[in-house]
Amino acid sequence: MTARADAEARDAADALAPFRERFAFADDDTVYVDGNSLGRLPLETRARLDALEEEWATRLVQAWHDWIDLPVRVGDLLATAVLGARPGEIVVCDSTTVNLYKLAGAVLADRPGAIVVDAGEFPTDRYVLEGLAASHRRELRLLDSDPGLGPTADEVAAACGTDAALVVVSSVHYRSGAVADMRAITAAARDGGALVVWDLSHAAGAIEVALEDAGADLAVGCSYKYLNAGPGSPAYLFVRSDLQPRLRSPIQGWFGQRDQFAMERPYEPDAGIARFLAGTPPIAGLAAVEVGGRLVEEAGIGALAAKGRALTEYAAELAGVSLAPLGFELASPTDPRCRGAHIALRHADAWRICRALIERAGVVPDFRGPDSIRFGFPPLYTRFVDVWEALDRTRQVVERGDHLALDTTLARVT
Ligand SMILES: *Cc1c(COP(=O)(O)O)cnc(C)c1O
Repeated sequence: MTARADAEARDAADALAPFRERFAFADDDTVYVDGNSLGRLPLETRARLDALEEEWATRLVQAWHDWIDLPVRVGDLLATAVLGARPGEIVVCDSTTVNLYKLAGAVLADRPGAIVVDAGEFPTDRYVLEGLAASHRRELRLLDSDPGLGPTADEVAAACGTDAALVVVSSVHYRSGAVADMRAITAAARDGGALVVWDLSHAAGAIEVALEDAGADLAVGCSYKYLNAGPGSPAYLFVRSDLQPRLRSPIQGWFGQRDQFAMERPYEPDAGIARFLAGTPPIAGLAAVEVGGRLVEEAGIGALAAKGRALTEYAAELAGVSLAPLGFELASPTDPRCRGAHIALRHADAWRICRALIERAGVVPDFRGPDSIRFGFPPLYTRFVDVWEALDRTRQVVERGDHLALDTTLARVT
């Protein structure tokens, strides 16, 4: 394998390297390559949450004067610094699952036609759409795209035909890391009469998402992966401004009401993006999303995306040299421009190797069935030496046969 010194030289030349010091590390030995499942804790978030506790303790309900605008304010930050949208088009609230339900439900109430989703799409997206297809009595058309590539615009066009209402696609595929062509897929769906809801969960903070440039209609995504906002932090949703007046959330809550504290009136949605709020937003989580968004803003999403590509390219190169002879195969696109900031390696014994990496080698990737190990390299805090260590320790585990002693039973969380 290429010498570790080569990785160290790449780190020395990395202008983003100092951002690593802004995050909490429990120990220096563990190589954490699962930040695409749960990102690290920014040190500033600790201070921010302490300050929030103090506000709660001292100001009680009066503090809501400052808290109430957070969903829209943090949405504006994500719009301009992370997702290439305009202020007033994004709001931070609820989970990705609930936001997808709200936007998909709004589209189905707006127009007739079928629902299109890839059979290999992230489970929660498929589940939400199965439920909505049943309750709205719509046909659910499952695409069967190449799992390494995700759906193409041609496949979406063919599935939509001329009678589709809704398409849901991940911008970066959760398993393979493949980047979907947002502009082409949006246009293909529109020709078939459909709006697309993009799932940005694995894209936000990893690649340059350009919602406005691509003409995107709608999007959702989570904040605890590359945005480092912590477990259960709220998700976001995007609705292009011209679509806002015609789409209504199927969850009519008081935070989406036009004049929230005029309490006697019947429901009438807010004129802007706040119409997609439902109930009381999680303020501690929102504060953490703001810190995470500001870190991306400070580093610059262009620079982060470029570093993400460099990290996955380095990983793919090392895997080709030292892991391919041991039965590993790249299960991600080969062109780094077509990938997010994670890669998947396929191996017949992937589950046991993943366990051995975590239990015996101090490397934390994750397993995605049936046969992939995912290595995530969040560019804010991942070093080239982390990539090198993760892959070199994988080589050692398999060469020593560490995994052969483990049983093949799957755990509750993989
Ligand atoms: C992580 C992820 C989600 C998470 O949904 P939650 O409702 O936040 O649990 C949704 N979609 C995709 C594609 C994801 O990667």
